[in-house]
Amino acid sequence: MQPFVVMAKPVGSLCNLECGYCYYLETGRFTQSQPESRMSESLLEMFIRQYIESSPGPVVQFTWHGGEPTLAGLDFYRLAVKLQKRYLPEGWSCWNNLQTNGILLDDEWCSFLANAHFDVGLSIDGTQWLHDKNR
Ligand code: SF4
Repeated sequence: MQPFVVMAKPVGSLCNLECGYCYYLETGRFTQSQPESRMSESLLEMFIRQYIESSPGPVVQFTWHGGEPTLAGLDFYRLAVKLQKRYLPEGWSCWNNLQTNGILLDDEWCSFLANAHFDVGLSIDGTQWLHDKNR
């Protein structure tokens, strides 16, 4: 079995910014008014179980992307970590990568991400004038 990585997008293209250069927001026109555009708890569990079952191990990489993946809510990721622990075979481990614009990150989020050892990619476009120009 060959190693592979799946990029999960739990809220599709939904985002709390409208960057002028964003290539992805437009795709949400078709789905964001639909409840199924957000990953349900049952789909999250199915994804984690099947992803682990399909992986060669012993390390499984979870990547959370958007849109803005923090819009799924902190409890969504608490549940994700719990489910990962439930389905990982003995001796296996996983790590989580979250790519975010950082808007929603507060102390509670940061505490969770640190305690759960998430790698966090924070998108910043440069100095403030450059960053704010298109965001
Ligand atoms: S933060 Fe990312 S997903 Fe959101 S509008 Fe900007 S480029 Fe698009």
